[in-house]
This record gives sequence, structure tokens and C-alpha cells, in this order.
Amino acid sequence: MEPLIDPFARAISYLRVSVTDRCDFRCLYCMSETMTFLPKKELLTLEELDRLCTAFVGLGVSKLRITGGEPLVRKGIMTFFRAMTRHLESGALKELTLTTNGSQLSRFAKDLAAAGVRRVNVSLDTLDERKFAEITRWGRLAQVLDGIDAAQAAGLRVKINTVALKGFNEDELFKLAEWCAARGMDLTFIEVMPMGDLGNEDRLDQYWSMKDLRARLSEQYRLTDLAESSGGPARYVRLEETGQKIGFITPLTHNFCESCNRVRLTCTGELFMCLGQEDRADLRAPLRASSDDTALIAAIREAIAHKPKGHDFDYSRTDAAGRSLGQMSRHMSHTGG
Ligand code: SAM
Ligand code: SF4
Repeated sequence: MEPLIDPFARAISYLRVSVTDRCDFRCLYCMSETMTFLPKKELLTLEELDRLCTAFVGLGVSKLRITGGEPLVRKGIMTFFRAMTRHLESGALKELTLTTNGSQLSRFAKDLAAAGVRRVNVSLDTLDERKFAEITRWGRLAQVLDGIDAAQAAGLRVKINTVALKGFNEDELFKLAEWCAARGMDLTFIEVMPMGDLGNEDRLDQYWSMKDLRARLSEQYRLTDLAESSGGPARYVRLEETGQKIGFITPLTHNFCESCNRVRLTCTGELFMCLGQEDRADLRAPLRASSDDTALIAAIREAIAHKPKGHDFDYSRTDAAGRSLGQMSRHMSHTGG
């Protein structure tokens, strides 16, 4: 089949799939404590997720990242991972991976490795037990650390994702880098994004720019810029002293949109063509309308034909009341980050 090429000549090869909006944590920057979740019937079934992902793989998607909410709290999720193994075996899918908070990795690491997962991203913002409980509201650090141990023991490569939060984990910058280096893990910092109405303190207070973070790192280490690009918002350096790779994700800049190769599928079957735009396409309706994939594939092609050139995040654009206009109303747990 013809591959998916958008109007700006970008080939779409990477699909991120949110398999649930639920989570066993309530991170301050991601969900409100009293988050209301979608009724179960709104969610795509595991079979529907399989059909959708299979359609994308047939259209040239070679990398699938499973996310959420917390993907490993979705009931029966290992059935889905095992079903995707056939695409790895056929060679159509080059990589099957997930982003997780790590809480369930002790239970699932071996099964994930057996299904063909080689790498996992684990989100971890602090190595301090008390601060971990504060930022995740419901999480326990020990459980996540056990999960990371289990993942490494199962042979999975682990990358740590850390949201950079001013006044929260600034003081742990070197500690986190050293801890990851000692365990052979790469580390990526993410700028906090203006997502959803969380009823929390103004997240702009917590904004810690990657420029500043990078400058701080260079006080302690020699940084070498790496040319490699994932097609996403991450830029990488190598720390010469430890050899490890450090990534910086700056979703608020526009400097990655030209090479954007990805789209995001929500757990209800909406396809978001850009993380920073509200424009979406409903794939659930064509999926449910027929067991034949013709209409579904037409809907996917139609959606890709509308992939915007770039996104609109911008903290500096505010209305008269000072409210950010670049802010997205939807939650990261809906689109999967
Ligand atoms: N529950 C899984 C996890 O935490 O890894 C997967 C879903 S979570 C929405 C995906 C990523 O989005 C996590 O690394 C999380 O830290 C990040 N994230 C959530 N809200 C964010 C925000 N407002 N700004 C920046 N990153 C955010
Ligand atoms: Fe859950 Fe991940 Fe959101 Fe934290 S960032 S509340 S772990 S979905």
C-alpha cells in the first residue's frame, strides 16, 4: 500500500497509542486528583486497538509506542502486546515500545521482553521518596525502582524521562544523571507543558527551561551535541565523563515540526495529527461501522492529509486576563504525551 505522506512531504512512520486514560498515579502536572475517567464503552477494545495498529503498520508505520494513562493498568494489555509480536516477526514493525510510570513493571517486564519489546521509557522525576509521593500523589518510589530493576533483569533497555520542574527537582540534576549513568540508562528531560485544567498552582511557576538546565549540566560535565534526531522534539548530548546520552525535550519550541514523523491515537480512537493542535479525526466510527478496513484506511489517509505544519504552544500569548492562549485543554493522559 502507498505509505502515509503528509502535505509537507513528511512520511508518517511513528504511531503513539494511548491504550487507557486511567492511571494508578495522579501526577500534579498531568491529572487532577479527582480526575473523571471515560466510561469503559468509549474505549477501544483490545481487538479494535489491534485492528487499528495493524492498519497503520500496513500503511508504513514501523514504530509503535504504547502509552496512556498508564498502559500497564489496562486489563489484558499483555494480550495486545503479544498480538503485536506478529508484526515484529514479519519485519513490518521495527520497534514496539512503551512509556510507563514503572509501577507495574515488576509484574510485566518478562512478558514484555518475550513479546519483543526491547526498550521502555520510565517516567521518574525524583529519587527522593517524599518528593516522589508529593509529585505523583499516589505513587511509591520503591515500587518504581523495583520495576526498573525487573526491566533491566529482563534485558530491556531503560530510558528515564524526567519532567524538569523549577524548585522541585533542580537540586537533583546531577544526582539523577549519575544514578542513570551508574545503571547504564539514558536520561531525557522534558519541559513541563501547558496541558489541561488541573486545578493546581500555576504551572508556569514550575517551568524550568531546557536552556537553563543544559547550562547547569555543562558546569559539571563536558557536553557533546549529537546529530541524531528521532524526528521528535528531543535533542541529545553525550556527557563525556559518563558516556551517557542526555535528551532535552522542548515541546514549546517549533524547531522540530519540520521533521515530525508521528501521529497520536487516543484510547477512544481519535487521531491527533499534532500534539499541539486540537485538530483530530475520529477513527472509531469507520472502525466500528464495518469489519472491512476500506473506510478505516480512507479515514486515516484523509486525516494525514490534514496534518498541520506545526503546533501552537506558546506561553507568551495570553488573553486580557493573562490566561495562556497556547494552552491545550486536553490532558496528556488522553493523548498519551
Ligand atoms: N503513565 C505513563 C508515564 O507516566 O510514563 C505514560 C503516560 S504519561 C502522560 C507520558 C509522559 O508525559 C510522562 O513522561 C509524563 O511525565 C509526561 N507528562 C505528563 N504531563 C506532562 C506535562 N504537563 N508536561 C510535560 N510532560 C508531561
Ligand atoms: Fe499517570 Fe503518567 Fe500522568 Fe503520571 S504522567 S498521572 S503516571 S499518566
